[in-house]
Amino acid sequence: MTTQAAPREFAFQAEIQQVLHLLAHSLYQSKEIALRELISNASDALDKYRHVCLVEEPVKDPGDLSITLIPDPTANTLTIADNGIGMTEEELIAHLGTIAKSGSRDFLSSLQADAKKAVNLIGQFGVGFYSAFMLAHTVEVRSRSYQSDQAYRWTSDGSGKFTVEPIDGLDRGTQIVLHLKDDLKEFTFEHRLKSIVQTYSRFVPHPIRLNDVIINDVKPIWVEPKSQLSEEQYAGFFEHLTHQTGEKPIWHLHYSTDSPIQFHALLYCPASNPERLGFGRAEHGLNLCAKRILVQNDCRDLLPEYLRFLHGVVDSEDLPLNVSRETLQDNSVFQKIRRVLVRKILDRLSDLSKEQPAHFAEFTQQFGNSMKEGVGSDFENREKLAALWRFPSTRDDHAEPTSLDAYIERMKPDQQKIFFLAGSSLKSLARHPHLEIFRQRGTEVLLLPEPIDEWAVLHLAKYREHEFQSVDASNIDLPPKTEEAKETSSSSEADATGFGRVIEIFKRRLGEKVAEIRRSDRLIDSPCCLVSADGNFSPQLQKMMMLANKEFDMPKRIFEINPRAKLIKRLADLSANPSHEEFIGKVGEQLFLSSLLLEGMLLEPENLAQGIQAFMEEAAQGRSPIITG
Ligand code: ADP
Repeated sequence: MTTQAAPREFAFQAEIQQVLHLLAHSLYQSKEIALRELISNASDALDKYRHVCLVEEPVKDPGDLSITLIPDPTANTLTIADNGIGMTEEELIAHLGTIAKSGSRDFLSSLQADAKKAVNLIGQFGVGFYSAFMLAHTVEVRSRSYQSDQAYRWTSDGSGKFTVEPIDGLDRGTQIVLHLKDDLKEFTFEHRLKSIVQTYSRFVPHPIRLNDVIINDVKPIWVEPKSQLSEEQYAGFFEHLTHQTGEKPIWHLHYSTDSPIQFHALLYCPASNPERLGFGRAEHGLNLCAKRILVQNDCRDLLPEYLRFLHGVVDSEDLPLNVSRETLQDNSVFQKIRRVLVRKILDRLSDLSKEQPAHFAEFTQQFGNSMKEGVGSDFENREKLAALWRFPSTRDDHAEPTSLDAYIERMKPDQQKIFFLAGSSLKSLARHPHLEIFRQRGTEVLLLPEPIDEWAVLHLAKYREHEFQSVDASNIDLPPKTEEAKETSSSSEADATGFGRVIEIFKRRLGEKVAEIRRSDRLIDSPCCLVSADGNFSPQLQKMMMLANKEFDMPKRIFEINPRAKLIKRLADLSANPSHEEFIGKVGEQLFLSSLLLEGMLLEPENLAQGIQAFMEEAAQGRSPIITG
C-alpha cells in the first residue's frame, strides 16, 4: 500500500501536558523506570494479542511472541519492539494522546502534592508511556494493528503536540524509537540495558531479546515451590507487579492447592495505602492466568471490594483460556477460587496478628478500615473480619489498640456487653464525661474515633454473643459498684429540694431544645452530659446523616444533671433565693451549649460565645451572684 499522506497534527490532552511537564522537571528521577514502563507496555501488547488469538474466531496460533531491544549507538537511538497487538491510527491518537481511566485523572490532580512519589507511581496510573520523554528528546511510535494492513507513525517531541502519518513496511506490532537525549548515550550500551532489564523487568513473562540473546528470566515464580524461592525473589516480583522500586510489601501470601480446584496464588499487601494519600481508589485488580497464560490483568472480581488494595497473580489449570470478563462472574471455578482466596487471606492476617504483631500493627494502620468496610458485604467472613479489628480503649491510657477478643478476656465476670463510645477524635473521646463512671468502676470502654468504626460495630451488632452498647445511650445498665473503687463523691449530693428547683429552672429555660432533663447517675465530677434517647443513632452517625441530607432533623437528646457536681450543688443552694433564677437559667443554657460543643454537635457557636462574654462582663463588674450571693 502506498502511503504518501501528509502527517496530521494533534494536541495532547491537558492532563498529559501536565505529566510531560512534570517528567521534564524531575531531573533526579531514576531514568531506568522509563524502560521498565515501555517493556511492560510491550508485554501487555503481547498478552493482548495472544488473548485475541484465543477468543476471536477462527482461533489461531499466536506464534512466538517476544520483545526486542535494538540499540543504535551511531544514531543514538534505542528501539523497543514487540510483535503484539499493535495500534490502528485511531488507537495511536486515542491511547497516546488522552487518558481514559478515571483513576488516572485523580492521580494527576494530586500530582503536585508529592511529585517525586508520583513519578514512581506513574506506571500504576496508566501514563507510563510518557516516561519515554525522560530519555528521549523525540519519540517515534511505529505500529501496525493485528487488524490492519496499514502501519502508522506517531511522532512527538513532548512539547504539547504530536503528529500521525501512514508508513510502509512494518509487520504486526509496535516499535518505540527513542531518539535519546545527548547525555543519555548509556542507554545504547549493551551491559547497561542488560542490567536494567535484570533489575526492573526480570519477571516480564515474555522473552526480552538483546542481540538475539534472551536477557530475562521468563519462568513464572508463583508456580515454583515456596522452598525454592528467596525473599529477594518475592520482593522482586512485588516490584514487578506494582511498578515500584524500593517498596517492600508488609506481607505476602503464596498458596497452591490441587483440590477441589487447582490453583496458585501469590498475593502482596503493599506498605502503604494510596487511598489514604488521596490518590483515588485502588483500581488495579489482580492478574488472572489460566494455565500460566495471562487472561486478565486487572481482574477486580477475584477479590471482594474491601480487599482491593492487594496486588498479585492467580493462576489456575481449571480455568478456560478463552474466559472473558463477562463469563467469569458465572464461572463456578472462578467463584470457588475467590472463596478459598478470601479465607486464606483472612487466615494469613490472623496468623500475622499472632506471630508478627508489629507487622500487623503496620497493616492495621494502613488497611484497618478495609477490614471494617468488609462486614458490610462479606457476610460469610464477618466474625473473622471483626477478629482483626483494633480499637483504642480506656485501658492503660489507650496506648495500645485492643482486639475484641482481648477486650472480652478482660470483661468483668458479670459484664455481658461490649461498651463503646464513638466520637470525632481520640483526644476528645478520652476526656468524655460519659467515661467517668466506667473508669471509676474499672469497666473498659472501646473508643471509636473513625466514622467507619461505629458503622462497623453497629452493623455487626454483636461479637461472640456479646452485644455492642454505646455508653451514651439513655437506658444503659451502668457497671455495678466495686468494693475497691471508693465513690466518695456520692456521699455528698445537692440538697434534694434545691436540686429539684434547679431542674425546673433548666426545663423552663431550655424548653423544646431537649427531650428531657433528669438526674444523672453516670457522672462523677462533671456537672452534666447529653445522652441519646432509646433507638436513636449516636451523635456521630446523626452528624453523618445531616451532612448527607440537609433536611435531616436531629433527634432531641436527654440532658442529664449530676447532683454530686460542685457547680450543681452551689446552684441548688442559690436557688433558695428566687432572684437567682435568671442566673441559674443562664448557667443551664451555657452547660447545654458546652455539652453540645464537646460532642462536636454545636452547629451555631454564636450563642455560646455571647453567653460566655456576658458572664465575663458581669464577673468583671462584680455583679455575679457567685461572687456576691
Ligand atoms: P497504560 O499502559 O497503563 O494503559 P500507557 O500510558 O503506558 O498507560 O499506555 C497507554 C496505552 O497505549 C496503553 O493502554 C495501550 O493501549 C497503548 N500502548 C502503549 N504501548 C503499546 C504497545 N507497545 N503496543 C500496543 N499498544 C500500546
